[in-house]
Amino acid sequence: MKKEPPATRLNIKTILNRVQPFPGFVYGSVHLLGSACTQRIEVKVRSRASSQGRCSNCRKPCPGYDTLPERRWKFVPLWAIPVFLLYAERRVECGEHGVIVEQVPWSAGKSPVSIALMIFLAQWARRLSWRETARVFQTSWESVYRSVQWFVAWGLAHRVLAGIQAIGIDEIFWGRGRKSEAFLTVIYQIDGHCRRLLWVGRKRTQATLQRGLDALGSEVVSGLKYVCSDMWKPYLNVIAARIGHALHVLDRFHITLHLNQAVDQVRRAESTRLKGKPLAKRLKKMRWKLLRKGSRVRGRAKLKLEGLLASKLATGRAWDLKEAFQHFWKYRSPLWAGGFLDYWTQRAMRSRLEP
Ligand SMILES: [Zn+2]
Repeated sequence: MKKEPPATRLNIKTILNRVQPFPGFVYGSVHLLGSACTQRIEVKVRSRASSQGRCSNCRKPCPGYDTLPERRWKFVPLWAIPVFLLYAERRVECGEHGVIVEQVPWSAGKSPVSIALMIFLAQWARRLSWRETARVFQTSWESVYRSVQWFVAWGLAHRVLAGIQAIGIDEIFWGRGRKSEAFLTVIYQIDGHCRRLLWVGRKRTQATLQRGLDALGSEVVSGLKYVCSDMWKPYLNVIAARIGHALHVLDRFHITLHLNQAVDQVRRAESTRLKGKPLAKRLKKMRWKLLRKGSRVRGRAKLKLEGLLASKLATGRAWDLKEAFQHFWKYRSPLWAGGFLDYWTQRAMRSRLEP
């Protein structure tokens, strides 16, 4: 077993040095100021005398030029007490970029929130709402928003897209805007070892998916082996044109959805045709029983369903076709599955049910 290091008398500087050391910089005095709700911890930071500042553009060490007034950065709070880092930035003289502010490892540009706090807030913002995150950690909604924005931008810039073999393409309804505006196109990685969201774009058109695939880059697209999608025509077109080399998988959920929609269309048309007759009323009541999976319909509902099937109505035949398709999912051999699909398609074509 690994032996633990001997116990240390602890002050805040020790924790900072342990969890957040910045090469080239040292922590100075730590003070607790104010009282009650104005209470805060201030941590002075100095640059190491021996280390040169680095150009914030090219990151190369450069000779010093002057020192700016002290700046404050919000750091991760301790015991719900706000913590600030205080540091006077140096300006350096870069051969390439002239007189420029030094690169400070805890700072992202002009933001008064340190990188450590941005990461901290962004991670909590995944669990709590942004408003709650701001309230719990005594900061503004704006700070949380900017932290998430920074975190996402950092994540995207450092994201590794190599080795993606399987993606899923889906449309989701988000309800903002009208018609096609109300949909988003999302691309997921669905490899066994890694499932993550890769891309989101407005609308669900061919152009949307084209943009998504462009964003992933031709290297990723040409390396794909499996693409899973629903049966939305614009997607099918783009997938055939650009990812034709990959195996295209249609997802079961959407196929079932289409089968159910077809049954419902037949039922509605038949209801209209039979208007005024008692059968029409019966059909109306059957809606949910028809859409459920046959094996899940039990008791009296099952008797009614069987009565309907015996009645030679078009709805009964449609339901029968939908149920027959369930066998498809049980095949293990592609050959037999293909054979079944041919047989089922023939039956569907001969059924004279347009949907
Ligand atoms: Zn430079």
